[in-house]
Amino acid sequence: MTTASYDSPTERYSYKSAMIDSLRGSPEGVQVGRVNLRLAEKFGFCWGVDRAVAMVWDAIRENPGRTIWLLNQIIHNPKVNEDFLRERVRFVFGPYASEGGFDGIRQEDLVVIPAFSAEVEHMNRLQEIGCEIVDTTCPWVEKPHRRVLRYLEDGYTVLIHGLRNHDETRATCSLVESKQGHFLVVNDMEETEFLCGFLLKQEPLSAFQEKFASRTSTGFDPEQHLVQLGIINQTTMLASESRAIAVKVAKTMLERDGAGKSSSNFRDFDTICPATQDNQDAVMSLPDDMDVFLVLGGYDSSNTRNLLRAAKSRHGSYHLQSPRAIEGNTLHHRDPQSGQEVVAANWLPEGPVTVGLSAGASTPDTELEAVIRKVCESAGEELSAQAVAADTPQS
Ligand code: SF4
Repeated sequence: MTTASYDSPTERYSYKSAMIDSLRGSPEGVQVGRVNLRLAEKFGFCWGVDRAVAMVWDAIRENPGRTIWLLNQIIHNPKVNEDFLRERVRFVFGPYASEGGFDGIRQEDLVVIPAFSAEVEHMNRLQEIGCEIVDTTCPWVEKPHRRVLRYLEDGYTVLIHGLRNHDETRATCSLVESKQGHFLVVNDMEETEFLCGFLLKQEPLSAFQEKFASRTSTGFDPEQHLVQLGIINQTTMLASESRAIAVKVAKTMLERDGAGKSSSNFRDFDTICPATQDNQDAVMSLPDDMDVFLVLGGYDSSNTRNLLRAAKSRHGSYHLQSPRAIEGNTLHHRDPQSGQEVVAANWLPEGPVTVGLSAGASTPDTELEAVIRKVCESAGEELSAQAVAADTPQS
């Protein structure tokens, strides 16, 4: 690895793509033979991811010979994490974890906290070890943390629209418990409707306990801890669903408590981050007449999964994890219902075809470029620099 290339922030890592930059801002799409490529107006690396990845590269450059750890995946993208593995960065938790994990960290090591933040007990343990900590937590992830502390100070239980096992929500839940507060996590509207039924005494306690057993704080007592609720959301959830959940809970509290009490028993604060909102809005404003819609990003990337949900009305929508997912007429993708990887045959129709594309906030542009090349190859077309330049509006 050379050090000179790090001097420019835009060149210090190789995730930029001149081709993708050319395609950005081309609302009519680019015609490559029989394929019309339509990129969403906003997609790919957000500010927080860009910053976190740059901070890891800087740590590697500034600490030759030192053992550098990532507490977990820096972001949910296999390519980026595997690049760090190749640089001999070690992982404490997650799919790339080194044997021994935490026990292997020494005082002289450097540990990077991912953009999602970290659980309080893990931060405490690192402080006990006395190693250097580089914290890449995104400021947009800190925002719900600040709101949580205010809810807890005022005696509210924190209702989180999020995924209990997502790193960001795990960190939020641990923050609540570290302050002896209480939380309840709902994944989606279906669970919110069940919760609201329980608040209105339409669902039995046993069903509530069974449904939320793994998603409430230790010692959670529904009698005590559902009186005052303050809502936040994981920053990368589907924004429209988060808003609908807040409205549903507010209406239910009004029905349960009456106008006077419900206003003091319920608080709401939207913590979806702007990058998530912009990428979802851009997917929703793509034309409806596309034949195929591809969303690129890690299978465990919440914001990528929600880009697929934002495109729910479209036929032929697929979530793929890397350019390797496309093998001619075969496409490997994540089935949103089962969460498993499945294979679609003949995914690209014959004849003229419009292919819409977006990418999660943790997806490098270079990966999207490689997907576009594979799409064209699968269609039997060649994507030349001239084709891109000819169709791209000049500024
Ligand atoms: S998706 Fe939002 S919260 Fe997550 S790193 Fe990017 S800007 Fe930060």
